[in-house]
Amino acid sequence: MDSRSFVVPTLAIGIAFSIGIGCTSKSCPPCEEATALVEEAKGSDGEPVSGHHYTLPGLDHGLLQSPVNILSDETEAGKHHIRFGEANEAEEVANLGTTVELSFGRGSTTEFDGKVYELLQLHFHTPAEHLIDGITYPMEVHLVHRRPGPAAFDPPAYLVLALLVRMGASNAFLAEFLDAIPTQPGEAVELHDVFLRDVSRPGVDFDNMHYYHYRGSLTTPPYTESVDWLIAKEIVEAGPAQIQRINLLEGDNARHVQALYSREIDE
Ligand SMILES: [Zn+2]
Repeated sequence: MDSRSFVVPTLAIGIAFSIGIGCTSKSCPPCEEATALVEEAKGSDGEPVSGHHYTLPGLDHGLLQSPVNILSDETEAGKHHIRFGEANEAEEVANLGTTVELSFGRGSTTEFDGKVYELLQLHFHTPAEHLIDGITYPMEVHLVHRRPGPAAFDPPAYLVLALLVRMGASNAFLAEFLDAIPTQPGEAVELHDVFLRDVSRPGVDFDNMHYYHYRGSLTTPPYTESVDWLIAKEIVEAGPAQIQRINLLEGDNARHVQALYSREIDE
C-alpha cells in the first residue's frame, strides 16, 4: 500500500454520506455547497491538496485504547446519569495547529453518575474518530472533563463526551466563534457569551441526549487509559462550510480506530 492510500478525503466521506443518506430530493443545497468545496480543494491532478494524514496506529499501548467502532446492535444495557452545569461558558478559542480548542472557565462542571467533573476544554476532530456501525462522520466534538484520581499517584479520571457531526444545517454554536479563530497556530482570542448548550441542534435536548458508554483512552499522547467515554447517539448538524473551515485550520487529525478486545459498550 503506498502512502497515498492514507490520505483522507474528508469531504468526500461527508458528501458520500450526505448524498447517500441525508438527501431524498434532487435539490440539496448542503450537498451542492459541499460538492463545490471539494472541487475547490482539489489540485490540478484532481487529488485533494491537503497534506494531512490520519494519525497512524501505535504499537506500545494497552488494551483500553480509543477511538473504537461502535456496533449498535452489540451494546449492553447500562444506566448512566449526566447533568451539565448551567454556567458552562467558553472563555477562549485557540488554534493549536493540531486542533481548534475552546477552554472553559473554572466552575464549569458536568456531573456523571454522581461524580462532579471539571469541564476543561472542547476541541474538534475532522473527520470523526469514533465510528458508528462503520460509518465515519465528517467531524467529532470532544468535551474533555477531569477529576482527581482516587489516590495522589493515580492518573486523573477523565470523562470525554463526544458529539458526532454530520453535514446539514448551519450550527449556531460554531457560528458564534468560527470567524474569530486565529489563523496562526499558537494564537488564541477571548470569547464572550459562547455557551456550551448552544452546541446541540434545534430539537435536540442537550440534557436528555442518549449515549453509548465505554472505558477507553485519550486519543492523543499520552493515551492515558482512565477515560469514561460518552458518545451521543443524537447526531449534531453543521454546515459544510463550517466543517470545512475547522478542517482547513486543523487538518485531518483523527486517530485510527482501535481494537475493543474484551470491552463492552453500554448505553
Ligand atoms: Zn479529541
